[in-house]
Amino acid sequence: MQLTFLGAAGTVTGSRFLSSGNHRSYLVDCGLFQGGRRMEEKNWQPFAPPLDRLDAVLLTHAHIDHVGYLPRLVASGFHGLVYATGATGALLELVQPVPFHQSIPLDGVAATWRPAGHLLGSAFLEVDLGAEAARPRLVFSGDLGRYDSEVMKPPPKIEDCDVLLLESTYGDRVHADQPIAQELSRLLGEVAESKGVLLIPAFAVGRTQQVLYHIRALQEAGLSASGMLTGGRILHHLKWRLPEACKTVLFVGYQAEGTRGRALLEGAKSLRVHGDQVTVRAQIAQVDALSGHAGQDELLRWLGGLRRPPSQVYLVHGEPPASQELERQIGSRLGYRTSIASEGMTVELK
Ligand SMILES: [Zn+2]
Repeated sequence: MQLTFLGAAGTVTGSRFLSSGNHRSYLVDCGLFQGGRRMEEKNWQPFAPPLDRLDAVLLTHAHIDHVGYLPRLVASGFHGLVYATGATGALLELVQPVPFHQSIPLDGVAATWRPAGHLLGSAFLEVDLGAEAARPRLVFSGDLGRYDSEVMKPPPKIEDCDVLLLESTYGDRVHADQPIAQELSRLLGEVAESKGVLLIPAFAVGRTQQVLYHIRALQEAGLSASGMLTGGRILHHLKWRLPEACKTVLFVGYQAEGTRGRALLEGAKSLRVHGDQVTVRAQIAQVDALSGHAGQDELLRWLGGLRRPPSQVYLVHGEPPASQELERQIGSRLGYRTSIASEGMTVELK
């Protein structure tokens, strides 16, 4: 059996992992690359593995960097089934819904979805390869949630696995123990006092649930499907409001390298939107504690649930500094064999 990293290796977008062997192949996640032209061009390259040999797609959750490439895969001639949890399926329409915690037999493998606590319907995926009892178990973390979210249950224990693909988005950061409600009301107070407007770029699902939980009384907020300002309605709001000093843009999710969101957080004085150069005078704020991703301590806590060390951990879905720091932490605290996946890399699974 082989495992190939087709995306989310050295970056936080384009999650696509191919497991193949015994004349069967399965794609886990089918995400879009985001973050600047160089990344987005990858979405237009032909899908590398032969499509007629791809048996099924297994999805962890409905974020665009995990599912956004599906329409193109289908348009390119993929006719197999797509499996995902019921809630993910409801968001996507095209999929075969599967229940949580039930081993789903597929040709030559069996897959089990377990809640990941990251988003409604989000899962980490256990894939048992081969039919024997001693078959190796591959676990795909997908995006892992937090242990103290107001709207999601924490991810359950991972008990047993041979090879683990672990996301590392916040591998170099522990989320501040910041009282979210307090931080938001301070911001809202400032915005109200200056008679300003608060824009919150949030993913259509996920962060939005949590933001709305905290601020029901928000008077004017632009909520958009593009949390990283890569497209969508929020860009229209930004174009008009970024040049005004009384506006505040609040980020509540991870901003990938190369996105407009990242540029704003790094202090960009102007931004290209719909072909125009827009001057930035608005206030830029971030509440990290609202992230739907586990912080470094939470990733380590989840790993600590394993009954025996996995034979190999591959770090995916992270920018290099985050993955490198997490690799160091796992090595020194848990002693698990860990390496950072690179795009296009294929490894043998025994
Ligand atoms: Zn996600």
